[in-house]
Amino acid sequence: MKNYLIIALIICISACKNDKTNNESEISEVKFTPIEHATMIIEYHGKTIYIDPTGGKDAFKGLPKADFVLITDIHSDHFHLNTIESLDLSNAKIIAPEAVYELLPKELRENTNALVNGTKENYETFIVEAVPMYNLREEALKFHPKGRGNGYVLTFGKERIYISGDTEDIPEMRELKNIDKAFICMNLPYTMTVESAANAVLSFKPKQVYPYHYRGTEGLSDIALFKEIVNNETKDIEVVQLDWYPNASNR
Ligand code: ZN
Repeated sequence: MKNYLIIALIICISACKNDKTNNESEISEVKFTPIEHATMIIEYHGKTIYIDPTGGKDAFKGLPKADFVLITDIHSDHFHLNTIESLDLSNAKIIAPEAVYELLPKELRENTNALVNGTKENYETFIVEAVPMYNLREEALKFHPKGRGNGYVLTFGKERIYISGDTEDIPEMRELKNIDKAFICMNLPYTMTVESAANAVLSFKPKQVYPYHYRGTEGLSDIALFKEIVNNETKDIEVVQLDWYPNASNR
């Protein structure tokens, strides 16, 4: 009887231990803070990355200074020169597509790496891969022609983060592999419908999806519908809702 109890205890201890190990390995070391629309900051191992900074200096009040600035495209909701010039970027590296590089003043160009779609750069804190972003619908081709802007896949340790930029459900997105967290745009008329976004996500199956950039000319997109389409198909993809529009009147 005593032996059975000891065996049961050992099984319990090892089960608890395994459980703890599994949970620990799933805790992300990457922290995201949404600012608004497509603007956010990412923190990892003491480094801070500003993504598409807009909203002026005040939007980043109380937040750590940027070590890196990533810009996806030339439009003012992604590339806002006044905001960039208002921030202390003395120690920051800017990573941007060539089209944005061309629009930067000379002194900022010196700290900028122009990344072409399909290229990759290792910055020690993380690896940045520039991936395509563009429109597919005939009537939307004028917004984002192929080759101009960059989406990004960022690798932090073992974690891979996809930031879509302004795009539709392009084949390059559908073919992404091993994405842990995907930030996916969905607004009209500039990017895509929630149906197209859900369809693309179901194809490359990130572990978590963060709808972002979802304010269009008709207001905010139906994120509840996006989640419903994704989760009706699979429960393996978690839809994470952050507060991207803290100042919106139509919440
Ligand atoms: Zn945009």
